[in-house]
Parts: sequence; C-alpha cells; structure tokens
Amino acid sequence: METITYEYENALYVNLTNRCDCSCVFCLRHNGHKGSIYADDLWLDHEPTREEALRDLLDRDLPSYRELVFCGFGEPTYRIDDILWLVDELKRTVPGLPPVRINTNGHANLLHGRDVCPDLKGRIDVLSISLNGSTPEEYLAVTQPRDGILAWKSMLDFTREAVKYVPTVMMTVVDKDKSPEEIQRCRELCESLGAHLRVRAYIPD
Ligand code: SF4
Repeated sequence: METITYEYENALYVNLTNRCDCSCVFCLRHNGHKGSIYADDLWLDHEPTREEALRDLLDRDLPSYRELVFCGFGEPTYRIDDILWLVDELKRTVPGLPPVRINTNGHANLLHGRDVCPDLKGRIDVLSISLNGSTPEEYLAVTQPRDGILAWKSMLDFTREAVKYVPTVMMTVVDKDKSPEEIQRCRELCESLGAHLRVRAYIPD
C-alpha cells in the first residue's frame, strides 16, 4: 500500500511525487531504499491526483497535527500547482488547519519556467530549502542537479524571492563531511539571502 500521508513527530507529511531533478549523495532514495525512517513504501506506483490526495488528507484529524509538510520522496514542487490547490481547499474546509510547510530543493522556478513565489503568499507558512554548500562547486558535488550551475543560481534566486512572501524561510545543510568553517560560510550565505540556517544530522544507511 503506497503512502500519500504519514505521521512523524506529530506532524503530517504529504508525499505527492517521486520525481526529482537532483541526486544528492545523502538521499534516502539511493541504495534501493523504498522508504525512510519515517515511513515504509514511499515509492508511488502512480502519483496521486490532487483529488486522491485531498481525500487522504481529509480522512485525518488535521487540526491535531503540529504542522502539515509537503515533502515527498522526491521534489514536491514538481506539483506546486496541486499543492497550492490542496492548501486552498484545506483552508476553505478545515477550521484550525496547522501551519503548512514545503521541504524543497528550491528549483521550482527552474522546473516551471516561472516565478512561483508570489503564489506562496497566504498559503505556505514555512519553507525549508536545501542549501547543501556555500559554493557552486560544493553544491554541485553534494546535490548533483540535472541542470548543473543553473540549479544553484535558481535555488539562490528562489530563496531571495520566497522570503518576500513566506513568513519563515530556512535553509538546511546536512552535516555529512562538513567542517565548522564550511557550516559557518553556509550560515553567512543563508543569512545574506534573508533566511535562517538549520543544520541537519546525516542519517546513515
Ligand atoms: S533533492 Fe531531495 S529527493 Fe531529490 S535527490 Fe536530493 S535529497 Fe533526494
């Protein structure tokens, strides 16, 4: 049974796609993993339609969660239009909806060929964007994006724009093979974009 939504630490995670334009060295999708420490079977036989996802979400007691997180076993903003539609539907029908977060690689504008950031306003409360390195070289080595340097630039531009529309924007680095100096350079870059840095622990196989 494939998983559209799953719980972790009192938040509800939403898995809408397995597509991704990156191949991060720490990605849980490598090495034949079918799920994460959070849930089994996050590979989707088919991507749920927005209506299927809405039904799944409405079966949950949404106000009881601390946060609703669009995450996916892939890059969720491939489905940004469906995410925005879902948030609109939920805000319209569910009183007491918890804050909504998207965990993203920050490539939405590159993937869609338009600036999606204004559409996040009033819908998305928190963005968590993968920074992964303070230089293009480090970023490309860790993230291995399909579009190379364009992806690095697009992620930085996305963050700079998103902070205008989303109340909380954080960027993340995974501490695998990162020196304190590199973490500090990431922090400075992140803060220069108007975001806050969060250092995540590496989860080994
Ligand atoms: S962006 Fe996320 S889903 Fe894509 S390869 Fe990196 S860690 Fe995996």
